[in-house]
Amino acid sequence: MAKILIVEDEVEMANSLKDNFEFEGHEVSIAFDGDEGIKSVYSFSPDLIILDIMLPNKSGYDVCRELRSNEISIPIIFLSARGQEIDKVLGLELGADDYITKPFSVRELIARINAVLRRYAAKPKTNKTNYKIGKLLANFEKLTAADENGKVDLTFKEFEVLEYFVKNEGRIISRSELLDHVWGYDNFPTTRTVDNHIAKLRKKIETDPMEPKHIFTVYGLGYKFVE
Ligand code: CA
Repeated sequence: MAKILIVEDEVEMANSLKDNFEFEGHEVSIAFDGDEGIKSVYSFSPDLIILDIMLPNKSGYDVCRELRSNEISIPIIFLSARGQEIDKVLGLELGADDYITKPFSVRELIARINAVLRRYAAKPKTNKTNYKIGKLLANFEKLTAADENGKVDLTFKEFEVLEYFVKNEGRIISRSELLDHVWGYDNFPTTRTVDNHIAKLRKKIETDPMEPKHIFTVYGLGYKFVE
């Protein structure tokens, strides 16, 4: 089972694909234009994107280019209209994983989806390159992060704190544990250092930093991270 995002402006086509993918056991979300598609990548964090090329607002190529420039490596299968020449060179440069031309059989698309998912599953590191952390997708190998508005700058320490949270999701982490694992004892940081970093991180990952939904303060104990 995978999370599949369909970006397709033809409502009937989008709904029919959704039904078929759900029947296969996948979790599905639909976006009807390019801008909505980008937003959905960050809110839904799909394992695979079915991306129509001719879309309102932003073309499928533009959506793909924007995601790849933010180091979002989620696999993409392009849908192209009947008779539309697919720019395979451009698609390849943009990092597309496969193409299918309308009209196509759903059976064939599902076979291609499974092939792409298998390819990515065989490369677990690549598959887990982008972590969803609140409204951010973060790449801990390349130390890049982005939200629906584009790149977000994080310091090296902020990446380290986030990575530690991700590895220990759902567990209460004390300030001194964070200091031990992220700062070490070399430059005499205080628990206030931790709190300052958390406040800055919340601004970058929480929709409302005053009402955090991802980095919770557990009074008297420390913090707890939930994706
Ligand atoms: Ca279209």
